[in-house]
Amino acid sequence: AKREGRGRVRFFETEMDQELRDRRLLQHDLRQALEQNQLVVYFQPQARMDGEVIGFEALLRWNHPTRGFVQPDQFIPLAEENGLIIQIGEWVLREACREAASWPRPLQVAVNLSPVQFQAGDLERSIHQILLETGLAPTRLEVEITEGVLIGDFTRALNLLRRLKALGIRIAMDDFGTGYSSLSYLQSFPFDKIKIDRSFIANLEATPQSAEIVRAVLSLAHALNIPVLAEGVETEAQRAFLEREACEEVQGYLVGRPDLIERYLDLIGVAVER
Ligand code: C2E
Ligand code: CA
Ligand code: CA
Ligand code: CA
Repeated sequence: AKREGRGRVRFFETEMDQELRDRRLLQHDLRQALEQNQLVVYFQPQARMDGEVIGFEALLRWNHPTRGFVQPDQFIPLAEENGLIIQIGEWVLREACREAASWPRPLQVAVNLSPVQFQAGDLERSIHQILLETGLAPTRLEVEITEGVLIGDFTRALNLLRRLKALGIRIAMDDFGTGYSSLSYLQSFPFDKIKIDRSFIANLEATPQSAEIVRAVLSLAHALNIPVLAEGVETEAQRAFLEREACEEVQGYLVGRPDLIERYLDLIGVAVER
């Protein structure tokens, strides 16, 4: 409400108010999403340059009762804000590990972890418990973290990463190149994989700078003995460039879109009667 002249009040809703209200609504709905089975885990294949699938990344989807599918970029920040990401993240881990336990070895599953999961809750204990519960070998679980994980309580996050690694879990650095300090984090922790952000791959053909950046990331990673996965590979031209530059792995629409695992089971040789 805004005072307009003497004694008169004009009510209006700015675009920002509207957005805020919508966020609150979604945040409210999100509390019920877990109990009402509205969350779904999609899987997207990760492959070697020759096309051999080596695993899948678990990507969360929210099938909202009236809005339809809500993208993770829209609701994960909300879940991080109110702490719900702790429960949701645990649920994704459990679903992903349970699924992966039924895949032929050595197919692995990659799960995204939010910085909030590192700061609150007992991530190590819950991962350990989920692995026991599902029977998945720790070496078949990869967790993907962004530099946000290391921005908060650096020491706490680092210790947690070390303990996860000691369990045999693999640690991948996600969205490499988009943050401010990706490089400095490479010296603080021995990552098992670097994922080059898809923004660089998307611009490969259009901007010569992107090609140079991708080359530089690959040469740096290889000097450090860290294998590289390129995200968002959509075209054969992009794949061919990456292969020439000795990139190890690809993920993207060219290999396959995120989808229900059923869609991929025959590809990995699992009987599709479920
Ligand atoms: P991300 O981890 O960088 O995941 C890759 C995103 O790129 C996914 O978006 C995927 O669908 C999309 N993608 C894959 N291949 C291609 C391609 O060839 N072209 C294009 N244009 N896009 C491609 P999505 O599924 O919408 O997820 C967005 C982000 O939400 C993820 O980015 C991740 O940061 C977050 N997220 C998703 N699931 C989870 C989860 O379970 N936990 C947490 N903490 N974050 C999650
Ligand atoms: Ca990821
Ligand atoms: Ca990424
Ligand atoms: Ca991303």
